[in-house]
Amino acid sequence: MRQRRETASASSKGSSSGEASEEESSSNGAEIRTTAYVGNPRRSSFVWLALLLIITYCCSSIYHYQFQSMPVPLTAEEAGKRGFSEIEAFKHVRALTQVGPHPVGSEALHLALQYVLTACENIKKTALWEVDVEVDLFHAKSGANHLRSGLFSGRTLVYSDLNHVVVRILPKYVSEARGQSILVSSHIDTVISTAGAGDCSSCVGVMLELARGISQWAHGLKRAIIFLFNTGEEEGLNGAHSFITQHPWSKTVRVAIDLEAMGIGGKSTIFQKLFNPNELTCGYSHSSTFSLCTRPCNNILLLTLP
Ligand SMILES: [Zn+2]
Repeated sequence: MRQRRETASASSKGSSSGEASEEESSSNGAEIRTTAYVGNPRRSSFVWLALLLIITYCCSSIYHYQFQSMPVPLTAEEAGKRGFSEIEAFKHVRALTQVGPHPVGSEALHLALQYVLTACENIKKTALWEVDVEVDLFHAKSGANHLRSGLFSGRTLVYSDLNHVVVRILPKYVSEARGQSILVSSHIDTVISTAGAGDCSSCVGVMLELARGISQWAHGLKRAIIFLFNTGEEEGLNGAHSFITQHPWSKTVRVAIDLEAMGIGGKSTIFQKLFNPNELTCGYSHSSTFSLCTRPCNNILLLTLP
């Protein structure tokens, strides 16, 4: 039998938590090694305080980056005909919220639809002469939306009589532009308990202002841009389903961008991306000064959405 006891000076030098001792013994060829660390209470509380300060600083930096370094809102004059005016977009938000909650089937939704339709007709009237703007008040027939994934996988939603405003903007003298399009969509309808300033009048306001600006310079595009102002989103994405399965322009869609509101402020964020549109993400990050991309949210949503 052999027994050896020694102070593990080498170990204690590399340890930041205080003193350490090591005991090693062997019996019948077997070795047992134990190490005991005695913590330093003073140093421990200092570490926790430093950690707290670091976390606070990180949270404060994230908040500042996300919510306080925002673009200065521009008026229509400052933005110019081809630019984007946040003030004008906000006017649309205010007008839509004034009709109150507008869920599917309500009279208020009819008013909201009429507002969006009128705004789109105005965009058509004021568009550049080299740009075609087509406005369609689309009435979707009944349909069945079978959910294949997400929380309600396996269930089928049945809908009928949904109305959407669909706008297609394309260069007048590029004939092939009609065959391929980029879809930008969001929803006009709200839930029954709110006027929906954020979800999703803010999206509709952005789309209307975006469409107005693009109608002034779309003669340089190679593809059409379709703006879909749909209803029936809050019932389970029925609006998007009815457009994709029933509207003739849907067959030309190559890329789809859906605007949605989550929270009450902050920068525009790529919250979820499906398939593998890396080029789209790169384009977004290069062209947008005030952008954010969250990969974890994407992964979580892929598990929950249909
Ligand atoms: Zn929404």
